[in-house]
Amino acid sequence: MDSLLIELAKLRRDANLTESIQDVDKILEQLEAARESIVQDPNSASFTLAKLQNPLKHGFDKVNEDLKRVHKGQSAYGRALDKNLPHKELPFDIDGLASRPALINRAISMHLLREGQFQVASTFLDEAQENPPQPSPMPGTPNFSEMDETEVPSLKSQELQDKFSNMYAILNELKAQNLHPAIEWARANSHELEKRGSNLEFELSKLQFVWLFLGPSVNGLPNDLNNGLSGALVYAQQHFQRFQARFLKDIQQLATAMAYSSNLKDSPYYRTFDIETAWDDVSTSFTREFCSLLGLSAESPLYLAATAGAIALPTLLKLYAIVKEKRTEWTTRSELPVEIALPKSMIFHAIFVCPVSKEQTTDQNPPMIMPCGHVVAKESLQRLSKGGKFKCPYCPGESILSQAREIIL
Ligand SMILES: [Zn+2]
Repeated sequence: MDSLLIELAKLRRDANLTESIQDVDKILEQLEAARESIVQDPNSASFTLAKLQNPLKHGFDKVNEDLKRVHKGQSAYGRALDKNLPHKELPFDIDGLASRPALINRAISMHLLREGQFQVASTFLDEAQENPPQPSPMPGTPNFSEMDETEVPSLKSQELQDKFSNMYAILNELKAQNLHPAIEWARANSHELEKRGSNLEFELSKLQFVWLFLGPSVNGLPNDLNNGLSGALVYAQQHFQRFQARFLKDIQQLATAMAYSSNLKDSPYYRTFDIETAWDDVSTSFTREFCSLLGLSAESPLYLAATAGAIALPTLLKLYAIVKEKRTEWTTRSELPVEIALPKSMIFHAIFVCPVSKEQTTDQNPPMIMPCGHVVAKESLQRLSKGGKFKCPYCPGESILSQAREIIL
């Protein structure tokens, strides 16, 4: 894999388009200059055009040469990929989703919309509507064909597009270090955000305070009374009132920090004013809250599913080979027979494995807590109790079945 990384570095270094772009820009400049001089003196047109011929030819040759280098780099990388990752046929005789093409199209459109690829999404939706996909369930895969494909809820694409373009407009402002549109949005939605226990509105306002506090040398805003310490103070007086009930301690700390303004670096509040990651952090929180108010997760589900699938693929291929070789069948329905180690960021639901039966709990066999506080799966509990009083397998506690309560993870 190391040799592949070396090839990738080479590709980035030698085969990027920077020079091509510069050379194309040069040609554009020459053309624009020629147009300008023709506009100023129309009589000079033929002379100007004649003069342009050689430099233009030279320019185009240069662009072609640049591109040759890029092609060369790309094919070298392609060869390295083939060598390092030899092509293996995937067993395509199983396609668990072949019976739900409309659902897949919906997931793709949704992904494009939430990534801000509005034009692509609209083309995709148009084409999908013109050529509605036909379900083609395969033998041995879950058959959803009885389900009506029209049941797939239609995507309110225009509405979603409007919302997401608003989100991207605000994110762009955040990138340009302008907090105002994000704060306005958070204020307009403060009721819903608060209901979710979100701190977003305060976090944004706090950053605005810090941003002003750090002054013109950091924030690049005009050096006047609305900036620096005085600007931060005015901002706090105008806007922090509404946060007092929930964030009094933070506000007190921000106020006390003012006393250290000349020597912030050595103050106990240094961390609050270290905003290296603050803009990225608020952008992430903003995206998460914005999506959650739309009833969506912060990460694209399609992206997550595809990434998790790519991680799981080697294990699943191995499993597939074993199942095929031993001619056994995959017997569990709602659970994979092997564990797929996914990164923490991809794990959304806590799972519970019963310490008695060693089985993962399910909706039908949920975890049950006994009065002593120990937890086992429902089926294990039923086996233990045999209807009467029984002793917990982990402590001397005794209980009866009806005292156990289901745990919702
Ligand atoms: Zn116990």
